[in-house]
Amino acid sequence: MPLSRRARSISPSSTIAITAMAKKMQAEGIDVVSFGAGEPDFDTPDHIKEVAIRAIREGFTKYTAPEGIEELRDAVVTKLKRDNELEYDREEVITSAGSKQALYNLAMVLFDRGDEVIIPSPYWVTYPEQVRLAGAVPVFLATREEDGFKLRGEDLQRVVSGRTKALILNSPSNPTGVVLEREDLLAIADLAVENGFYVISDEAYEMLVYDGKQHISIASLGERVKSRTILVNSVSKAYAMTGWRIGYAAGPRKITKAIADLQSQVTSNPTAFAQKAAVTALLGPQDEVAKMRGEFDRRRQFIVERLRAIPGVKCIEPFGAFYVFPNISAFLGRRAHDGIIQTSNDLATYLLEEAKVAVIPGKEFGSDAHIRLSYAISLEQIAKGLDRMEEALSKLS
Ligand code: PLP
Repeated sequence: MPLSRRARSISPSSTIAITAMAKKMQAEGIDVVSFGAGEPDFDTPDHIKEVAIRAIREGFTKYTAPEGIEELRDAVVTKLKRDNELEYDREEVITSAGSKQALYNLAMVLFDRGDEVIIPSPYWVTYPEQVRLAGAVPVFLATREEDGFKLRGEDLQRVVSGRTKALILNSPSNPTGVVLEREDLLAIADLAVENGFYVISDEAYEMLVYDGKQHISIASLGERVKSRTILVNSVSKAYAMTGWRIGYAAGPRKITKAIADLQSQVTSNPTAFAQKAAVTALLGPQDEVAKMRGEFDRRRQFIVERLRAIPGVKCIEPFGAFYVFPNISAFLGRRAHDGIIQTSNDLATYLLEEAKVAVIPGKEFGSDAHIRLSYAISLEQIAKGLDRMEEALSKLS
């Protein structure tokens, strides 16, 4: 008996293939430098852990309401007001197992077969898969490297059609690090309102912006765009809490209610004691976030400078998240010892075998001219990895 058509339609990820190979090599004792990390290398702050430990001890280990405990939804309301100038009611907030589940829930409650969903490219790998799982059609909209990968209103206008149901916006972006400015967002907001499509605004990296840039939530630009926006965020990246699996969505009540009904049939609720910890993350002291951001910024400046010094590598400056997305097209068509490097995947495989350095092929994110490196590793590891990478790249003829 075959698996369902749905299961067969899910793309296997070459990100996973490369990271699995890197892990296998590490397990064999090979010293691999991995730039593959999609999560902070810092530990969850102690004051957050303590709350979860106490909650477990006190027996807070049972089901909660599918939308999450009131205390957490209220904490999200407070956070959105404090950081994003946004007013929501508790009923307009739903918590989930990470923002990934929040995004999946949205795909399930908003998209029908044949709906078009605009995804600016390069994009986070999960968006097109979730859109397809809902039976909808991803419409990729290429952004330009020379433009810093910004989504431009005039380009967006060109792909909007009568079937456009939503735009998935991700600022700060994984993988490019682009942070959209107020005027970029205003143009996008106008189009959403004029054409009546939803904006799913994935703000998972909002706390990680550098060089004086400011994160702006598109929903804060006016009531009309707010009524079409579903903001998605989580405690994962900001508080080094990826494994706790707490995310949330905020938007029109009709949508959060539909998600609660869906979630009640799928996962019931996010982990009870992790919800308690997330309340503390959102409302407690924020100085650990500033410390992590400072450390990421040091690494960001170092990695960009070092990459730019490698002949053939071009690298725009990322202003958010913890990734760099250098252009490696100068190496495509060059010869390695066992063949021609034709794709970003070939280059990633070459770097892993030759330099013992793991990077993610850009093709995964919609651009074969790039590779993605995460700087959620120590400065020493970054320096070591880039030395090796530079040497291996210089051997390509
Ligand atoms: N959005 C983006 C752009 C991401 O890169 C990630 C994780 O890598 C997520 C959302 C999901 O994070 P989580 O489910 O841990 O909140």
